[in-house]
Amino acid sequence: MNTMTTEQPYLKHAIPGVLGLEPYSPGMPIDELQRRLGIANAVKLASNENPLGPSPKVKAALAALINDTDVSRYPDGAGFKLKKKIAEFHGIEPERITLGNGSNDIIEFIARVFLGPGRAAMYSAHAFAVYPIVTQAQDAASVIVPALPESHPEMPYGHDLEGFAKLLRDDVTVVFLVNPNNPTGTWMRPDQIEAFLKHVPSHTLVVLDEAYQEYLDPSLRPDSRVWLDRFPNLIVTRTFSKTYGLAGLRAGYSLSHRALADLLNRVRQPFNLNSFALLAAEVALGDQDHVRRAVELNTTESSRLRRELKALSLTVLPSQANFVTVGFGRDSAPVHRALLERGVIVRPMASYQMPQFLRVSVGTEAENSRFLDALKDILK
Ligand SMILES: *Cc1c(COP(=O)(O)O)cnc(C)c1O
Repeated sequence: MNTMTTEQPYLKHAIPGVLGLEPYSPGMPIDELQRRLGIANAVKLASNENPLGPSPKVKAALAALINDTDVSRYPDGAGFKLKKKIAEFHGIEPERITLGNGSNDIIEFIARVFLGPGRAAMYSAHAFAVYPIVTQAQDAASVIVPALPESHPEMPYGHDLEGFAKLLRDDVTVVFLVNPNNPTGTWMRPDQIEAFLKHVPSHTLVVLDEAYQEYLDPSLRPDSRVWLDRFPNLIVTRTFSKTYGLAGLRAGYSLSHRALADLLNRVRQPFNLNSFALLAAEVALGDQDHVRRAVELNTTESSRLRRELKALSLTVLPSQANFVTVGFGRDSAPVHRALLERGVIVRPMASYQMPQFLRVSVGTEAENSRFLDALKDILK
């Protein structure tokens, strides 16, 4: 028992999984770094946000809302208008949509409903940090599927779906797939995912986390909407935090069979999305031109970043997302620190068991140049 639980005896009754958790580390806020360095122009390329920010239409709608809405009233707990908009966008019944305070909220609903002692979640090594957290917090087991090896010719550190299929077992109630994956940027082809969906028994839920779906090249983008009708044990999660530029407002959603949406809705807090998030998400979904601008900027700038990083003889993992994961062939912590000293915040990967790598979000042209100049200075 650790000292915390001997000092405060009631803490020993906390769920064992929770006591053993490492808290998620969100990294240094940009204001804090600026204060420490005494500078005003730090750049943060650490959380994969949209460097263009939200659509101007969203900003205008939020400004109007703050004048016109009585925030002393609860938001629309059913999210009626947002669900209607999402339903039209995907051609799906509103009863099959679940709204989340970010898509992390939905991942948590899934864990609360399907995971517990004697059950297991399955996910890839080096996948999104939230899956192990929600699994362990439910006292469920994890089946961690080794990623494809670093020497893999196409997809080093990618999801190994054949490995998933081999390790499936009866106590696995939830399988988390993420396409493209965070923190590696690696992806799965639609035919690979479909073959896996055909293989998974119908009593196992498959979560397909599509947080970065918009960044996938159209030729690699699955029509997961069609799969939802063929595989009732599939749930697809989407977010407004990345391409839509609304990370600070917290809005995400899932599409699934209506029976599953009904269960998730039972554990959802009645007002989990606030009035601003509901409106912003609705307006953002209606501005697909803004999404296209964000994707175009990302395409141009991520290929420039990759090219320049390769020219520095660094390892650059294949990525179809809005970040680049770069390997230094040695512990990356000193590089991370040196970048911080130069006012550039990126994401260290030690907590993802990839201590030699850093994950760099693709920013504006100026932000990326700032990062590249700092890195060249450090490596020279
Ligand atoms: C960023 C991210 C999300 C989105 O989280 P929100 O709670 O919607 O902000 C979900 N999954 C992955 C893999 C992500 O990287």
